[in-house]
Amino acid sequence: MFKNLEHIGIAVKDLEVSKSLFEKLLQVKSYKTETVESEQVSTAFFQSGETKVELVAALAENSAIAKYIEKKGEGIHHLAFAVEDIRSEMARLKSEGFVLLQEEPKKGADNKLVCFIHPKSTNSVLIELCQEIE
Ligand code: ZN
Repeated sequence: MFKNLEHIGIAVKDLEVSKSLFEKLLQVKSYKTETVESEQVSTAFFQSGETKVELVAALAENSAIAKYIEKKGEGIHHLAFAVEDIRSEMARLKSEGFVLLQEEPKKGADNKLVCFIHPKSTNSVLIELCQEIE
């Protein structure tokens, strides 16, 4: 089952520059900066009221984020929804014809198991499913 919008992912070129920008914008310090080696990205998280924002910057030129920014520039990159049971959601979505970018959930940032849905099957919106790791 899908639950709340867990966070909004924003692709940025320079994490430190954007971190101070969003600190100024949201008037809150980033509560976590984390490197996700498997994705070659570094991330910074903000909590604004009930809403979380994740800034994502590439660590390497061949990172998907680097390619994204090269093509589309900085901006909203993905919407992440919390799900109750990521494996059963993945199976359901697959059976409905959605294209998943992973066969198995993987360890994402902020203590989550994650899976992405290909934007070609979701009106060009990259959707991330995430389930808190207990
Ligand atoms: Zn995310």
